[in-house]
Amino acid sequence: MNQVSFIGEYMNNPEWTEITLKESYARWQDMVAWGVEFYKYDDGEYVWWPPRPPEMLAKFPMQSIRMVQRKHAEVCRSQATKTGVNILDRVMIADLLKQDGKVVGAIGFSIESHDLYIIKAKATIMSAGASAFKPNGTPLHVITGDGEAMAYRVGAEITGKEWNDCHPSRAEFPAWQWSPRKNLSTSKKDDFGGLPSKVNAEGDLFADGQSVTLYIEDVHEADAGRAPVYWQFGSGTADYHDLVAGPEGLPRNQLDLDAEQEGKVRMVVGSSLGMSVHNTEGIWPINTKCATSIPGLYAAGDSLGARPAGARYPNMGFSTAYCSATGTRAGVAAAEYALQTKKPIVNEEEQMRVKKILYAPIERQGGFTPGWVTQILQNTMMPYWVLYVKHGERLQATLKQIEFMRDRIVPKLTAKDAHELRLAHETKNMILGAEMKLRASLFRTESRGTHYREDYPLRDDPDWLAWVKIKEEQGEMKLHKEPIPEKWWPDLSKSYEERYPLRFPRE
Ligand SMILES: Cc1cc2nc3c(=O)[nH]c(=O)nc-3n(C[C@H](O)[C@H](O)[C@H](O)COP(=O)(O)OP(=O)(O)OC[C@H]3O[C@@H](n4cnc5c(N)ncnc54)[C@H](O)[C@@H]3O)c2cc1C
Repeated sequence: MNQVSFIGEYMNNPEWTEITLKESYARWQDMVAWGVEFYKYDDGEYVWWPPRPPEMLAKFPMQSIRMVQRKHAEVCRSQATKTGVNILDRVMIADLLKQDGKVVGAIGFSIESHDLYIIKAKATIMSAGASAFKPNGTPLHVITGDGEAMAYRVGAEITGKEWNDCHPSRAEFPAWQWSPRKNLSTSKKDDFGGLPSKVNAEGDLFADGQSVTLYIEDVHEADAGRAPVYWQFGSGTADYHDLVAGPEGLPRNQLDLDAEQEGKVRMVVGSSLGMSVHNTEGIWPINTKCATSIPGLYAAGDSLGARPAGARYPNMGFSTAYCSATGTRAGVAAAEYALQTKKPIVNEEEQMRVKKILYAPIERQGGFTPGWVTQILQNTMMPYWVLYVKHGERLQATLKQIEFMRDRIVPKLTAKDAHELRLAHETKNMILGAEMKLRASLFRTESRGTHYREDYPLRDDPDWLAWVKIKEEQGEMKLHKEPIPEKWWPDLSKSYEERYPLRFPRE
């Protein structure tokens, strides 16, 4: 619990941190029972991750176990099917249906035939993942913030948009997923060299690889003129991990081949552009049952902004733990609600309203293609001096661009087929997400964790021991400050440096 609050700079909600830590154990037991596999050392013990030497483990005790990647989805799907779940494949949900102040289902279309789907539901759980702007890197191309955009449009509150996820990618092959086994040794339990340190272009070490997760120090190095930055692996040999070596059979860059000889890999940050800290962004819950402020609407996983983590991601594996715990909580609560609710009636007017919005891009004869608009959005939001090294003036200038896109470009998005229709809706949602990110970044007039404002380079306790909530009010995006209860504050009698050992460049 302390690790999460300390790393997250006290922006987490400890009630949810505790739920995540405690309830994910039962969810893991479910998964084992269903046949999901987890890595084990040669002696049969589970692989604990990240591998920390004892002195670091005393400081940062949280570890997780590692799931064998890319197999669990099939297991979970078959488990769901066995319990009678009806899965609609390749259907994009575009909007929620609202009737008499309640969410009563959703509307979508087949991304192959653009056939219409109207789903009437007593209770709806939003679990469409997080938000990003389709950066060319870590696998984020399906998470365009659709869930929170749909929820925002029916009046729900959104939070956590000012933070940044800082997943890096291999610079030479940004979209390459490395090896599924990643830097995993199942025979060397006490080899702590598996996690990379970071070195800059001058050869100086700037992060030790043990204590820091997903922070923006790479950007600070680049801003200071010390890029490229590299991951430096402990042993530097490919026999410990198959990570250093690039993919075989592709043309290579000499810079990267030279780096590999020294056990280094050139990395880029910004490859998860648009995403906030996992679980810290999303739809604001009104209770610990994952209900939102709109009756009938629940949220789970990355779509739920319950804030078990804070301004920085606390530990590998934490997000899956939270998603599994909230998935179950939302499921149970939505079922209880549905049992007490009458069959929904969605009037013709509401169905026609959302249907018109859904098909507008395909019915338009001319306009802007979503591919082009997405490119412009990326060009606008991607420079590191917008979201990673922020300043009020630059945020305002970028917001002007995004407002223009919202008002003049989005209404003219066009699609020639079902595939482009999906892209058009994603693009619209990403532009809404960009506006939220810029406004939340302007609103939080301090620096903290992954939110760095050059014009406000210090944490501002206790004024900004608060969360930011975003809501649509009379067609306008409004932001509110939600104070964090005093019982969860850091010890303000400690010096600033003790509370916050991480320094920002301009402090
Ligand atoms: C690069 C990266 C690395 C990560 N590494 C780790 C890690 O090491 N450990 C860890 O614990 N967590 C990690 N996470 C986080 C973890 O993957 C997520 O927290 C988790 O997958 C979220 O689960 P979810 O079910 O809420 O959402 P997702 O897994 O994102 O699933 C959302 C689903 O909704 C679908 N969808 C979205 N919009 C629509 C729509 N409009 N209509 C229909 N379907 C839609 C998407 O296609 C997707 O299948 C990582 C995340 C990323 C991006």
